[in-house]
Amino acid sequence: MSESPVKPKNFIRQIIDSDLDSGKHQSVVTRFPPEPNGFLHVGHAKSICLNFGVAGDYRGKCNLRFDDTNPAKEEAAYAEAIEDDVRWLGFEWDGEIRHASDYFEQLYTYAKELIEKGLAYVDELTPEQIREYRGTFEVPGKNSPFRDRPKAESLDLFQRMRDGEFADGKMCVRAKINMASPNINMRDPVIYRIKHQHHHRTGDAWCIYPMYDFTHCISDALEGITHSLCTLEFEDHRPLYDWVLDNISIDCHPQQIEFSRLNLEHTVTSKRKLNQLVTEKHVDGWDDPRMPTISGMRRRGFTAAAIRDMCERVGVTKKVNTTEMGVLENCVREDLDRNAQRAMAVLDPVKVILTNYPEDKVEELSAPNHPKEDMGERTLYMSREVYIDRADFREEANKKYKRLVLGKSVRLRNSYVITATDVIKNENGDISEIHCTYDPDTLGKNPEGQKPKGVIHWVSASHSLPAVVRLYDRLFNVANPGAMDDLASALNPDSLTILENARVEKSLAEVEPETRFQFEREGYFCSDRYECKSGNLVFNRTVTLRDSWAKIESKEQNAQ
Ligand code: ATP
Ligand code: MG
Repeated sequence: MSESPVKPKNFIRQIIDSDLDSGKHQSVVTRFPPEPNGFLHVGHAKSICLNFGVAGDYRGKCNLRFDDTNPAKEEAAYAEAIEDDVRWLGFEWDGEIRHASDYFEQLYTYAKELIEKGLAYVDELTPEQIREYRGTFEVPGKNSPFRDRPKAESLDLFQRMRDGEFADGKMCVRAKINMASPNINMRDPVIYRIKHQHHHRTGDAWCIYPMYDFTHCISDALEGITHSLCTLEFEDHRPLYDWVLDNISIDCHPQQIEFSRLNLEHTVTSKRKLNQLVTEKHVDGWDDPRMPTISGMRRRGFTAAAIRDMCERVGVTKKVNTTEMGVLENCVREDLDRNAQRAMAVLDPVKVILTNYPEDKVEELSAPNHPKEDMGERTLYMSREVYIDRADFREEANKKYKRLVLGKSVRLRNSYVITATDVIKNENGDISEIHCTYDPDTLGKNPEGQKPKGVIHWVSASHSLPAVVRLYDRLFNVANPGAMDDLASALNPDSLTILENARVEKSLAEVEPETRFQFEREGYFCSDRYECKSGNLVFNRTVTLRDSWAKIESKEQNAQ
């Protein structure tokens, strides 16, 4: 037996391969079916990458279908956000956007067909009674007294349900399957209910709405879906999916295949919980950069390529698992390391005066935009007064501290070597100025004798710009916040720090929104999609340079 040189395909692709080989299908059609009741999150990204990815690789088609059967919870604004997110992730659906609501008339006809065949009935038990009659895992269900009513009576009532004669909950249509089935989904599931509610697409045309399990399989079949990929919690619904399609006059019978959801540590992937964070104002909207929503991650500075890469690395299996946030963050780091320009920003500035640098002199120095890739150069301005970060200076430190220390030297990145000679403090004892000398003979070369140990970033005081920098950290302190009774108690109180007095180099003056940078020695940052414009520079920290959650102790800390 020879070993295959190619990476083994995930189990779904293996099924597709064999369906194409056997001639069961000539091509592949998938769909991504979100309910427009919230923004898409990182879990949806996995489903998007899978459905659109499979369709793309097999030269098939993938539909975008809004599963909009629940008029109470859905809004057009969510639908628009979902379209944007799918496109931003790099995918395009086949043809027009579909809606389950496009099929309401057909769904109604199929329900009627089931009634005519004696496979469905109008039930008048109350919702509470239906629940009670359903039984439990241990106890089989009981037949409804309306189960065997004449077909004609059910058909008449169904028509009158549609005509609006009855109040919500007064009656419903149920499939007639088996009240003793070990699978509770098969105990005469409700397929239609009365809801006198306006629908954002069909308006007031309907006051009865089909249930998810009845709608989904028929929508798939009407669209000629070949492989209906969904998450594991639908495994027990598959018999119902198949039952409906087997019992109505429809030729197409897609295969439902389940895979495990994406769960991410330190966050939640449930629209209900994300909605709670928004409505309780723990975050600033669905696209707050701390949210695991696609629009939140985008605003934070994550790239679509990094999110796709993470989905690829996580893979597609049936195994329930939770992915560490570090996996996603590392994908982001790898992408940005390669593709983001470098720049200098001083987040917590303290002024340095180079006492031997001429007062009016301004030098133009050039610096590469990237250490490895060819991304051109930019101009840095050198002047007598510069800013460095407060954390990069100490009056005293041991040898492990490789930054500026009183009486010692350090290199300003892409510029000169300076030596600290004096500190000036204000009445509170805080350092207000550091006096240094610079060595004019150290541009691009080391001083005679000793090489300075460290390199720090800086900006010119006169040739830099004020900026607001928002440092984002994980939203939750605990690995599995979704399991907490009180979601709010798991929030990380330090998930956002706003630095109002940062300074950035002048080359960023005209930065476009959503431009990503590595601010040297600080991390990866992205100009805010909405707030960053010329004259108002706002940067969001996308991710730190290293995973500080994985490695709490750093060498630098030992030096303190
Ligand atoms: P939530 O539980 O957050 O409300 P949902 O499953 O109800 O999510 P839908 O809008 O119905 O949200 O989901 C659309 C598609 O995305 C479905 O096929 C669903 O299986 C898939 N999906 C949702 N969450 C995840 C996840 N965490 N991982 C992978 N796929 C997911
Ligand atoms: Mg759902």
